[in-house]
Amino acid sequence: MSRTVYMDNNATTMMAPEVQKAVAQAQSVTYGNASSMHSFGREAAALVEDARKSVSQLIECRPEEVTFTSGASESNNTVFSIARSLIEKGRGKRIVTTTIEHPSIIETVKYLRKCGINVDQVPVDGEGRVRIGELEKIMGNDVVLVSVMTGNNETGTIQEIGQISEIAHRYGALMHTDATQAIGKIEVSCKQWNLDYLSCSAHKFYGPKGVGVLYSKKDAPFETYVHGGEQEHGRRAGTYNTAAIYGLGVAARLAKEGIKEEHDRLWAMRERLRTGIVKSIPDVVVNGCQEHCLPGTLDVSFPSAEGESILLMLDMAGIAVSTGSACATGSLEPSYVLLAGGLDVELAHGSIRFSLGRFNTEEDVDYVLEVLPPVIKKLREISTR
Ligand code: PMP
Repeated sequence: MSRTVYMDNNATTMMAPEVQKAVAQAQSVTYGNASSMHSFGREAAALVEDARKSVSQLIECRPEEVTFTSGASESNNTVFSIARSLIEKGRGKRIVTTTIEHPSIIETVKYLRKCGINVDQVPVDGEGRVRIGELEKIMGNDVVLVSVMTGNNETGTIQEIGQISEIAHRYGALMHTDATQAIGKIEVSCKQWNLDYLSCSAHKFYGPKGVGVLYSKKDAPFETYVHGGEQEHGRRAGTYNTAAIYGLGVAARLAKEGIKEEHDRLWAMRERLRTGIVKSIPDVVVNGCQEHCLPGTLDVSFPSAEGESILLMLDMAGIAVSTGSACATGSLEPSYVLLAGGLDVELAHGSIRFSLGRFNTEEDVDYVLEVLPPVIKKLREISTR
């Protein structure tokens, strides 16, 4: 294999070298339990608090509004469980979310419905943007929580979170956004968007896996999801993974420092890839909204070529991409995100997500542009369709 190109950064990213160093150092030196009162514990706790401050600066909130979790899945589940509890206490009757959320919300919605909780899902338009008119229609004073993701993991489509938050609050509902894919790529601000809750995971912005954040506004209702110890003021039990949390803090600092350059560099590479594909391969469909899009994400359908076959052939050439969502790998179901945007089943089956990241180069893009056209040509020739 002559070359390897990792273009699956929406599935996960490599830890930044600075993060790797910080994690290794914290793991070997600062191994005390951050809840212990002795010096080993206090040293570990200082790293946790350092990370809390860095995260609060990245997402524009107060340090005490940051709770460390195992990742966005847990943060999302916690928020929906808070909403469920509010409904059970009679504080309202419904949750409103969308049809294109990550499975950690879509599956939670299915579970909550089985438990008798009402959840409405707002549809999206052909570009994957939430239909604001539909949201307005669906809203009412009985809604306890509105949850809309900031940027979609498959198409990269960005939502108007500030506007949606304003609508949610007008009806007295709490506002949550899953910002997992947007952090480090676009400006995300709890303050500016007037959010009540936000979820994210460190491994999507060059931090360690298995650690994330739940932001909850100072006076927003909170209900513990993981019960046990008194960590995080009783909000989330479990011994602190100090090294991972510290790594998350370093990743947050790097993300904040480089956000403008990162955005522009990713967008330029994405556009080089998009125009190159459109020019060299006939009959392709670029999915999602091209105007409001996360800078590194490009989702393309290749009619008469199966997504899985494209993925495997690219893999043989050392290129890592994804079909739809990596979380859906193992199932040959077409992407529900693309179907929700009105794409037909065949096009949804032939879709490939390229997701560029900090460590990609223009040479990587050019290598993909060299390998991809003959792969599609070959698959179309053998296609029985
Ligand atoms: N939300 C979104 C938008 C995501 O892309 C992901 C990860 N694919 C998650 C939530 C879940 O993150 P984690 O697996 O780290 O819990």
